[in-house]
Amino acid sequence: MSDCIFCKIAKGEVPSYKIYEDEDIFAFLDIAPNNYGHTLVIPKVHTETLLDTPDETLAKLISASKKLAKAVLEATGCKGFNLAQNNFEVAGQMVPHIHFHIIPRLEDDGFKFWPVKKYEKGQPEALIEKIKSHL
Ligand code: AMP
Ligand code: ZN
Repeated sequence: MSDCIFCKIAKGEVPSYKIYEDEDIFAFLDIAPNNYGHTLVIPKVHTETLLDTPDETLAKLISASKKLAKAVLEATGCKGFNLAQNNFEVAGQMVPHIHFHIIPRLEDDGFKFWPVKKYEKGQPEALIEKIKSHL
């Protein structure tokens, strides 16, 4: 897409701290890292979220993310990482070009986990039936 910042980065029209590139995939440092080494992995072809991205592209994206995560861990000395992927604005997606975040984690980085809820009696059963009806 012509006005998409990540398309421009993938084409080299906007500068980035590029880590990796192949025919289909581009990876670069997140400009506002949650931890140092925070990396973004994108397909070169524009799609918005997980839902409109072809399975073949997703396979390449996850495979490159695995390779990059290993390299990021070894380079930073971090012992773990989160592979994150936000879909749609309500879920925190700021750039509408699909991307995986590789976020290296440190024991004392102070990240808090998301709040949890409790199911009411009968609620899980109703919910799974509803979800299954949409498969
Ligand atoms: P998301 O909220 O999942 O859409 O994440 C978008 C990410 O892209 C954020 O973590 C931003 O810091 C990052 N970002 C936005 N613009 C750039 C850019 N020009 N170069 C590198 N990272 C960027
Ligand atoms: Zn794009």
